[in-house]
Amino acid sequence: MKNSRRHFLQQIAASAATLPFLSAYDAFGNSNFSASNLHPIIPQGPTLRVALMGLGGYASRVAEAMQSCKRAKITGLISGTPAKLDDWGARFAVPEKSRYNYENFDAIKDNPDIDAVYVITPNALHHDQAIRVAKAGKHVICEKPMALNAREGQEMVDACSRAGVKLLVGYRMHFEPKTVEVVRMRAAGEFGKIKFFQGLSGFRIGDPSQWRLNKQLAGGGAMMDIGIYAINGARYMVGEEPIWVTAQETKTDPVKFKEGVDETILFQLGFPSGAVASCLSTYNMNNLDRFFLNGEKGFAELQPSTGYGPIKGRTNNGELTQPHVTHQTLQMDRMAGIILDGDTPLIPVDGQEGLKDLKIIDAIYRACATGTKEELNLG
Ligand code: NDP
Repeated sequence: MKNSRRHFLQQIAASAATLPFLSAYDAFGNSNFSASNLHPIIPQGPTLRVALMGLGGYASRVAEAMQSCKRAKITGLISGTPAKLDDWGARFAVPEKSRYNYENFDAIKDNPDIDAVYVITPNALHHDQAIRVAKAGKHVICEKPMALNAREGQEMVDACSRAGVKLLVGYRMHFEPKTVEVVRMRAAGEFGKIKFFQGLSGFRIGDPSQWRLNKQLAGGGAMMDIGIYAINGARYMVGEEPIWVTAQETKTDPVKFKEGVDETILFQLGFPSGAVASCLSTYNMNNLDRFFLNGEKGFAELQPSTGYGPIKGRTNNGELTQPHVTHQTLQMDRMAGIILDGDTPLIPVDGQEGLKDLKIIDAIYRACATGTKEELNLG
């Protein structure tokens, strides 16, 4: 009797953990994807008018991709480099009145041509910039990692909630068709009970003087930048929130990877159902972009799993054939739907989602320091 009650409670806990993914799928999958191949269809609707903040490498990619958007458009620019404001302003037809620098961008509140600001600056700047955008009454789209730690992330969530604006994180994989198909199959039970996930995320980083290797600007090392894909992927592939983490750090080059800048971290996550994940985050090895999900009835493998694509993958049913769509084009069209129409994506991209990853990162760093298992309570 006692045992069956415990089993029942465990079942409830496990299904509660998967619920956000399943319920979101029902709302999203039926309305926004064709049943046959999950080819993304962008529903008609108003255009999201976006100001890009931080005109660097990734913003260039986003800006180019947005030229093919059906529902999102660049209508503002924020930069610390005047020449970029001139150049990008001319290239993307953004008038001078909608170009700002980091000192004066609070004035965006009086600009009726801007609905949202996409923060694409170094990690350490996200927190203050996102809060200023929220105070200006504009929606925030913020690059990953959303902030340096969970405390900062919570402050951003609270500020956006107080201001009545949405906070979204640039998790482009959450809209990627092959990823979405694997998540759909898992949520539909096609792999059976999930037992194991492996996430390998890394590359060999170059220029030692870049901000990504500066603790002050990056908040850490590979974990903040690329390891976060394995964390986030573990959550959406398994479909549960982890309840514990263990982690081990190794460093072979303490000159390049200074104190507080992690080079390589191995970490393990445990989930309420008993599923486990084994992950690697590194700045010192190439050819690491692989997700593997194993269940009692089947498996999914994505390799590459989080690069700019095309993503490739297969399941026990064969090769995944969903079409490649430029990730940032799809992301921005979908985010227009989320912000302007209240759409619910299959895999959440809101501030709570970003905050959960930050709580896990905090716990991974703690586990590296203490060598002990860290409990997680992601709510
Ligand atoms: P870059 O260094 O290429 O660009 C960052 C830009 O931020 C700079 O060009 C600069 O633009 C602005 N900036 C403001 N203050 C500083 C400062 N103190 N030091 C350096 N730059 C500053 O970085 P990325 O574009 O690669 O990365 C930006 C963010 O995007 C990061 O959070 C990163 O994690 C994320 N990212 C996400 C990716 C994804 O796939 N989702 C991929 C790559 C990055 P300006 O001169 O206009 O002020």
